[in-house]
Amino acid sequence: MIDSHCHLFYDDIFNDLDNKIKFAYSMGVTNFLTVGTDNKHMLQNIDIANTYDNVVCSIGIHPTEYACGYNIKEMFELTKKYNKIVAIGEVGLDYHYTDLAPKEKQLPLFEEMLQLAKDTDLPIILHCRECFSDDLFKLIKQYTDNAVFHCFTDSLENAKKIINEGFYLSLTGIVTFKNCQELREVAKYVPEDRLLIETDSPYLAPIPHRGKTNEPGFVRYVAECICEQRKCTLQHLSNITDENFYRLFPKSKIMLSKNNI
Ligand SMILES: [Zn+2]
Ligand SMILES: [Zn+2]
Repeated sequence: MIDSHCHLFYDDIFNDLDNKIKFAYSMGVTNFLTVGTDNKHMLQNIDIANTYDNVVCSIGIHPTEYACGYNIKEMFELTKKYNKIVAIGEVGLDYHYTDLAPKEKQLPLFEEMLQLAKDTDLPIILHCRECFSDDLFKLIKQYTDNAVFHCFTDSLENAKKIINEGFYLSLTGIVTFKNCQELREVAKYVPEDRLLIETDSPYLAPIPHRGKTNEPGFVRYVAECICEQRKCTLQHLSNITDENFYRLFPKSKIMLSKNNI
């Protein structure tokens, strides 16, 4: 099983990283994509991926981090220098936090990141919140077809649009929360070849750890909840989500040859 979206560089995880990875193994979670959010942690995140055979990474500027002082040329160079960078992300629009990041700041950043994905020919990890519209899909399509909407929490209707546009959809521990019935409908609906699973750790710990620090091993709880909805085995879900992961992030196949556990 793969945690397709975690942030291994945040202190809560990084300070005990060896043990977090060991624990994840014991849960059947063997590979990880640690996702970038800002300029400050970018090199540390790449370094983590270079340290562990079964970790790959992405670089990107989160919409609320528009003022973090990134350099787009440097980001481009990093993707050429490090094989372990398999995607651009997380990038997108977050209209829940417009007080932190006004819309007029978010949009140009997003377009710059989409252009970076196009220039580097890398897939995109999208953080899109309260911003779904036909214009959003049109905008993304101008740059790429290879993208995943991470931490999807929106309506079944918007999940259908994502799938119809040919994109991937990824679910976090929120799918286990009692009040999120519609999300479990989404978990049932997403076609086998479009679904990814993630923790978004250290945030969003699933039940039975809700409210505590999340960690990559907990993606198993996300998977088990989705299995209940889809009436399939953990092995099956693990197989299809692994396949989807390697199809969307082809550079991450680098992990397969070195990971015989
Ligand atoms: Zn996000
Ligand atoms: Zn994230």
